[in-house]
Amino acid sequence: MRTALVLALLLAASDAAAIDASNRYRSPRNPERAIRRSTELIVLHTTEAPAKSSLNKLSDRGEAHFCVTEEGSVYRIVDRDREAFHAGRSMWNGKEDVDKFSIGIECVGYHDKPMSSVQLGAIRQLVKELQSMYRIPDERVVCHSHVAYGAPNKWHKRAHRGRKRCGMLFAMPSVRKVLGLSARPKTDQDVKARRLVVGDDYLNKVLYGSVDTMAGKVAGPRNSPGTNTKTEEKPNPILERIKSAVQTKPAQDGQSPAAQPKPAEPAARQQPKLQSPKPQPPKPQPPKPQAPKSIADLKRMGYVERGKISRESTASRIAGKQWNSPDTWYTIRDKIFPGDKIDPRKLENGMSVWTKK
Ligand SMILES: [Zn+2]
Repeated sequence: MRTALVLALLLAASDAAAIDASNRYRSPRNPERAIRRSTELIVLHTTEAPAKSSLNKLSDRGEAHFCVTEEGSVYRIVDRDREAFHAGRSMWNGKEDVDKFSIGIECVGYHDKPMSSVQLGAIRQLVKELQSMYRIPDERVVCHSHVAYGAPNKWHKRAHRGRKRCGMLFAMPSVRKVLGLSARPKTDQDVKARRLVVGDDYLNKVLYGSVDTMAGKVAGPRNSPGTNTKTEEKPNPILERIKSAVQTKPAQDGQSPAAQPKPAEPAARQQPKLQSPKPQPPKPQPPKPQAPKSIADLKRMGYVERGKISRESTASRIAGKQWNSPDTWYTIRDKIFPGDKIDPRKLENGMSVWTKK
């Protein structure tokens, strides 16, 4: 009887195509965001920062639809039918402002570091669900660096692909294999049509060539179907939900029951944790971002010079609230300082201010 009831409720909920995610960091920006007219791309990002600060920032600014942490928890930030501001200056196939026609997923981690199998497993499941909801083929699951572009500047005379390397690992064949993606974009249509030029040769080789620095360093969760075998069987999402609803307690990820009365939501995402009696391999420590040591490093890491300090243009006028963030850098002569370490009295005229966005 109980199972029948659960089944009925689950069928009703699966009709609404609910995605199993926590609302703990749902953005206060939701009401002000437009309903998206179309959904042509899924864009994968890397936060380049630890989970807590990433989630707070994403939520405050409404900068993604979902965020997946290192241990595979999924957080809803902006409702999936609205526009999230995740892609910034962007273009795909001649269409600018990719936010208007895409879903953005932020993955806690770094563009050039492997991710844990449990995180990749959660990303894989979320991407699959979104692909089937919006009928998105594998080659339209892209990374931020596929779509971001930079305006002409001191180093690039023309608008160029390669403004950032965000999410770059998701273009690599080894990672796509773990995510169950069998195709990726074949060419950069915007470069081909000369709307943009290649501004980062290495990135271009990752996106469209055979550079794969993750080979041998990433794997899917051990029990997840298909990540290591040729014949993949898609799990039946309804069955999976029934199993998890009958077998497991609701997730304790802070989701408020009042805000989320749907009975179908609990715990499916937590399954790997709850159901694996096998000893887990030691959790990899989140890799620390490498500090840039030169202007070349800054550029390689996707930072852009925003201006020079002068009497009229102070650090906070150039970088805003981020002037003292660890992600803002100051350079003068051959010296380089992170924003969170620099003594404000040492800010001097002529110093360059570098940020990512
Ligand atoms: Zn990004």
